[in-house]
Amino acid sequence: MSAALPPLNPAPVSTETRLAYVLRHFQQAYEPMVTVSIGYEETNAIQLMRGDRGFFEGQNPYPPTPTRREWRHQMLPFFFDCFPEEPLLTLKSGKALIGVDLISAAFYLLSGWQEYFSDERDQHGRFPFSASVQYRYGFVDTPVVNYYFDILKTAIEHVTGQPLQTRRWAGGAAWAAFITHDIDNLYSAWKAPAKAALRRFDLLSFGRKMWRHFTRPDAWDNLAHVQQTVSAHGAKSTFFFLPEHRKAANGTPNADYRYHQVRSLLNNVLQAGTSIELHGSIGTSTNANKLHYDAEQICHFGPTGQGLRFHYLSWEPRTTPALVDELLFAFDTTLGFAEHFGFRNSYCLPFQPFNFALGKAADFLEIPLNVMDATLHHPNYLQLAPEEILPALTPMLQEIERFGGVCTVLWHNENFDPANKHNGPRQFHELMEYLRSHNAAYVNGSEILTAIHARQNS
Ligand SMILES: [Zn+2]
Repeated sequence: MSAALPPLNPAPVSTETRLAYVLRHFQQAYEPMVTVSIGYEETNAIQLMRGDRGFFEGQNPYPPTPTRREWRHQMLPFFFDCFPEEPLLTLKSGKALIGVDLISAAFYLLSGWQEYFSDERDQHGRFPFSASVQYRYGFVDTPVVNYYFDILKTAIEHVTGQPLQTRRWAGGAAWAAFITHDIDNLYSAWKAPAKAALRRFDLLSFGRKMWRHFTRPDAWDNLAHVQQTVSAHGAKSTFFFLPEHRKAANGTPNADYRYHQVRSLLNNVLQAGTSIELHGSIGTSTNANKLHYDAEQICHFGPTGQGLRFHYLSWEPRTTPALVDELLFAFDTTLGFAEHFGFRNSYCLPFQPFNFALGKAADFLEIPLNVMDATLHHPNYLQLAPEEILPALTPMLQEIERFGGVCTVLWHNENFDPANKHNGPRQFHELMEYLRSHNAAYVNGSEILTAIHARQNS
């Protein structure tokens, strides 16, 4: 696979660039504060120990093994920790000394450095979870960058004498949830059971299933039902539609429907406050013309298509961020690992990925994907029993709540079919009950954009 990867062409990334990139995200996470100088110099009120040792001048995807240190009863990995004998935080009069290089570590994780420089890809061209530091050091369900920020926050509070609060969401909520559905299939619920009946020569059952198929709507032709179910939980759905119905060249399926035929049936669903965004078909994450073509199909029908998520969570770290900016998408919400729920960039708030070719932050906002239904129960991913799902997700949900983040949920419309007892409507209901009972604000893509843009300007 690696032979087909786009070449590396990184621009230099200076210390100042890394510092500014990380601090910009810090300022979006916390309420506005008194300006305080943060850096590696003796003269900085908050001084960090420098530990990168030229790492960012090279092209190694992985830094040296992180140390482990405890912060607020949590053991955390610290990359670029060259002075393990130094205390994590030393508070003096008018000054704080941070004994680790939080800035380098946060930049490394948030920017997506490992993905850009690694040449490992899976059969779908994706950076595999198994190649990640999150997998190697076992911290995919911990938003480590938010913990780093918590240390920095403590230092700032000491120096300024003022408490810093995490920013709030709509209605003063401490955290938020973004409920999304990729619409891959509307007409294929009958296929697997009919095939299974045929395989066991149960012709009576096969005949019944075929008859139903030709006389009744398909169980996955359920978008109004999805909208109503989500609405009953007090939330609004976002549908990501695939405008491409032809299979990819390698045989990977795209939509089993034609978007322009479906779109005319959606007026009620849209009036109920559902948003429509683009689900970029196979190949669009590396091809500007294809992505443009798909985007036009969605935008043709009105002021939608500000955001996207790629089908199969396709993402080529070396080219996709630039492509998303080139086509002026305001947000993307592809970045989660298909193989495991949690935090692909170790961060639980929307952020700007790094454009390594330009050596600066991308313009679009990444709303990280935390949990996809297929991840929870799938032959290639996790195989959680139905009753294990919410307990498995709970520590991750607690982290997002604690740090004022956004929990992005992907539940395909297929999995609102009551026939699915593994990762189906029941498990979705349990997750939604958890979000509501913990007072998450339900937000859609444009509400998240508005909130983050307001933070960037304050
Ligand atoms: Zn898809």
